[in-house]
Amino acid sequence: MKVAKFGGSSVANAEQIRKVAAIIQADPSRKIVVVSAPGKRTKADVKTTDLLIELAQYCIGNNDQAKEQTLNKVVNRYAEMVSDLGLQEDIKEEIYHDLKVRMNAYYANEHQMMDALKASGEDNNAKLIAAYFKSIGMNASYINPKDAGLLVSDEPGNAQVLPVAYERLNELRQQEGVIVFPGFFGFSETGTLVTFPRGGSDITGAILAAAVQADLYENFTDVDSVYAANPTIVEDPFEIKKMTYREMRELSYAGFSVFHDEALIPAFRNGIPVCVKNTNNPKSEGTLIVAEREPFDDPVIGIAADEGFATIYVRKYLMNREVGFGRRLLEILEDQSISYEHIPSGIDDTSVIIRESQLTDGVEEQILARIKTELTVDDVHIERGFAMVMLVGEGMHNSIGVIARASAALSRKGVNIEMINQGSSETSLVFGIHQKDADVAVQELYHEFFGSRVPV
Ligand code: ASP
Repeated sequence: MKVAKFGGSSVANAEQIRKVAAIIQADPSRKIVVVSAPGKRTKADVKTTDLLIELAQYCIGNNDQAKEQTLNKVVNRYAEMVSDLGLQEDIKEEIYHDLKVRMNAYYANEHQMMDALKASGEDNNAKLIAAYFKSIGMNASYINPKDAGLLVSDEPGNAQVLPVAYERLNELRQQEGVIVFPGFFGFSETGTLVTFPRGGSDITGAILAAAVQADLYENFTDVDSVYAANPTIVEDPFEIKKMTYREMRELSYAGFSVFHDEALIPAFRNGIPVCVKNTNNPKSEGTLIVAEREPFDDPVIGIAADEGFATIYVRKYLMNREVGFGRRLLEILEDQSISYEHIPSGIDDTSVIIRESQLTDGVEEQILARIKTELTVDDVHIERGFAMVMLVGEGMHNSIGVIARASAALSRKGVNIEMINQGSSETSLVFGIHQKDADVAVQELYHEFFGSRVPV
């Protein structure tokens, strides 16, 4: 039994949905189909989820005129698909009605309204796709996450699956025919709809795959495989045929958008292999993500870079001897709900690297003031505009000289290294550099580690 998840571009219009149907029909073991909201049809297009977020904002701000305009844009996305797929017009009416109900319902707070509208993108698309499957003679049905028991924590936009959900969802195994399941959201124990983080349909797919103990979780997207580097930065990068969960997790953390990093957890814990495949080229074997892979001849499997990091730099004489300094520093961040990414340290100084987006209005001043007064430090300041460049590969563990090769490559291009961090697992090596150097750093590192490699 396989769970197949289709991302936004795979279900963006009638032509794509026909491809999805053909893929499902080609393999009877594809029993559960998880779908995203209609994504971009062209580069310049807007994702339905983004339109829905806009719609929710207009509803929250009581902007009636803008609200109607955006509602029409959303409905038109579906209307086009309904007519191109030759479906009954009343499906379009149902979608319009569903959106109106969501817009006018009572919500305890704005976040609930935002989630309810955001999630309608996948929900209505799943209904539409199930209707299309039936119209071409497939035995298929739409299943609502509430009825199926996809229970999640009550954190709007950041839901976490509750352990009890797995048992309930396991019952989907008994269901006849193909199940079409909307991605991206679940329900709290009190019955409130809650969404996963953006890109979270991957998470739904992984949860379902783990719950039904699928043999394979197929994640269909619009590329043939996961590449060793971002193809918009490096020309024609290597296709990764097989990688471990850990390698994928590290690469998605550092900006490989092909698979959501949180989605790996359920698959990894339950040992479900994941395959990233292309809806537009299903014959291509894709990238297989598994627990273990064959011996690693090459140290590095992929290179990624992510931008938007800031460093909180703290210096205090004899910091190394002060018991509890680190805890108190992190507590100040915790009080502001700030999570950290890395903490490279010296004896008298430490840098806490965080995502810049967390430094919202006034937060920076508050943190600095508290660190200064409560920890009586000699210096504290925040620098922005950093990128984290990551070399990832299980093979690094057994290779000597990876740091030397990488830093030589960066120095060839005059890239200043602000920070180096290697986790004890030695699956990744992180360089903190200035954002402006990120692309050239990835290119030169790719050249160093993949330049002379022969394609397999
Ligand atoms: N539609 C949602 C988003 O754009 C979730 C997803 O596609 O995975 O983030």
